[in-house]
Amino acid sequence: MARHAKVQTFYASKEWVSFRLGLIAERGNRCERCKQIISRPIDVIGHHKIELTPENVKDVIISLNPELVELICFDCHQKEHNRFGYQTEKKVYIVYGPPLSGKTSFVQSQMRRGDIVIDMDRLYEAITMLPAFDKPDNLLGNVRGIYNLLLDNIKTRYGKWNNAWIIGTYPDKYKREKLAEDLGAELIFCEVSKDECLRRLSLDEDRKYRQDEWCGYVNKWFEHYIA
Ligand SMILES: [Zn+2]
Ligand SMILES: [Zn+2]
Repeated sequence: MARHAKVQTFYASKEWVSFRLGLIAERGNRCERCKQIISRPIDVIGHHKIELTPENVKDVIISLNPELVELICFDCHQKEHNRFGYQTEKKVYIVYGPPLSGKTSFVQSQMRRGDIVIDMDRLYEAITMLPAFDKPDNLLGNVRGIYNLLLDNIKTRYGKWNNAWIIGTYPDKYKREKLAEDLGAELIFCEVSKDECLRRLSLDEDRKYRQDEWCGYVNKWFEHYIA
C-alpha cells in the first residue's frame, strides 16, 4: 500500500529531515532494535511508533515527538511494517496448477527484478547441474531443505526481496490453503484442461524423452485435484 501523499510530503519536509538528523546526532547511528551499527546516516530510518496518517501528520505531538520515533535499520523497519501488515510492500503469491499449465511463464511475465521465485525444479537444477526435469531422487532431501529454508524466509519476510512467487502444483486444496495462510500469500490458479496439458506435453522439447513419466504426473494431478 502506498503512503498517502500528505504523509509522503511530510517525510520529505525540511522539518522532518532535520528532526531526524538531530535524533541521530543525539542517539548515534546504532539500530535501536537489533543494535547493529548503520554505517551511513542516510540509512537510519526514523520510524513512527504511531503510524502517520493524513489526519495526524500535522500534529507535531505525534509526528515530531522524539518519544514516538525509533531509529532503526532497513531490515528491522521492514519487519516492523510487515508484522503489522499496514505496509504491504512484500506481496507473496502461490502460483499453482497442473504440470504444463504455464506457471513459470506466468511468473516470468508478472515478476520484477528483485523478486524472489521459489520453484523445486529450479532448485534441483541449482545443485545438480543436470538439465531441467532430470531430478535424482537421492537429492530430494537436500532440495527440500533449501526449499523449506526459503519458505521460512518468506514467512518471516526475511531479506530485501520485493515480492515472492512460489511455484508448485498444489492439487490438494487443504494443503495449499494452509500454506497460503502460513505465508500470508495470495493463491493464483493457472487453470488449464487436462487435454491442453497433454497437448503441450506432446510439443514440449524439455520433456521429449520423458513423455510417459509426465503424462503420469498430469493424470495424477487431475486425480488429486480438489477445487
Ligand atoms: Zn535493526
Ligand atoms: Zn516505519
